[in-house]
Amino acid sequence: KLYNQVQDLKGNIRVYCRVRPFLPGQPNSLSTVDHIDDGNITITTTSKHGKEGKKSFTFNKIFGPSVTQAEVFADTQPLIRSVLDGYNVCIFAYGQTGSGKTHTMTGPSELTKETLGVNYRALSDLFIISEQRQDVISYDISVQMVEIYNEQVRDLLTPDGVNKKYPFRNYSFLCSLISQKGFNVPDANLVPVTSTSDVLNLMDLGHKNRAVGATAMNERSSRSHSCLTVHVQGRNMTSCTILRGSLHLVDLAGSERADKSEALGDRLKEATHINKSLSALGDVISSLAQKNSHVPYRNSKLTQLLQDSLGGQAKTLMFVHISPELNAVGETLSTLKFAERVS
Ligand code: ADP
Ligand code: MG
Repeated sequence: KLYNQVQDLKGNIRVYCRVRPFLPGQPNSLSTVDHIDDGNITITTTSKHGKEGKKSFTFNKIFGPSVTQAEVFADTQPLIRSVLDGYNVCIFAYGQTGSGKTHTMTGPSELTKETLGVNYRALSDLFIISEQRQDVISYDISVQMVEIYNEQVRDLLTPDGVNKKYPFRNYSFLCSLISQKGFNVPDANLVPVTSTSDVLNLMDLGHKNRAVGATAMNERSSRSHSCLTVHVQGRNMTSCTILRGSLHLVDLAGSERADKSEALGDRLKEATHINKSLSALGDVISSLAQKNSHVPYRNSKLTQLLQDSLGGQAKTLMFVHISPELNAVGETLSTLKFAERVS
């Protein structure tokens, strides 16, 4: 009860922290995570002179390295369900490259039932609940997937010869209906979906399209934000009233600071754009958390894109990811400071 009241005061912003386990081939490694205790996480730091210190941070939830995908989703589920009641929900994955953002949102590259990420589980839940309610409310569910790279938005669900199997139509007429609530990329394809296999196919297409034009897919995916948006429209069969909700699932670009000596040319340009948009996102969420009257949405493409789904009645969940390695401690602390600022 108290927790809910606190959430209300904070305008429905939650922050969950997830610690990646050591990866196979990293045996007996020391972790910077000293301990996790409910919503508190304590990090071991070392000063320039080799002196050990501790820093603690508090969030709504902390998921340790052994927490499963299913357990992470269990704490996300209520938010997903509210989309079918007409809420706009944004879920972000933040953290340095390699900290587990894509693992949380999509899953590892070899997907099994157990390792499926939030995106798939969220859609699956939406289908299950909409079916349970089908005698009362008839739901239409459709998805979009875009990428923001160097402050430019690109549609990831274009058929462009990548996957001809999928029947594409331009749903711009539908878009204009939805645009009153949480819809900001009218030109991006909006694809109706009726099953989780539709969604898997689309996510696959989106990932393939993301690689187009990139020198190395991993590089590109760590330097752009990807956003899977789910639009839900429900029609109450007796009253004929319409409700609309949306869910944005955002895998953010890596938050690491560019190495000043190495970042030149294109890398420097990318790093500058990423920095700018992540700090713009931090500014927006922290000013919402503080209930400021002015919210600076216009400072980046990302926050413009999500403007209707950040603030007001909308619900926001930020997953911040940290790597356990000692040599990542600098990035770990700056990630946790970012998270503290928005919570
Ligand atoms: P990011 O998207 O932040 O760059 P990834 O999600 O690609 O990071 O994670 C890096 C590697 O660590 C991947 O091989 C991923 O499968 C693995 N990994 C990340 N988080 C976990 C986890 N919670 N459990 C097991 N493996 C993980
Ligand atoms: Mg990734």
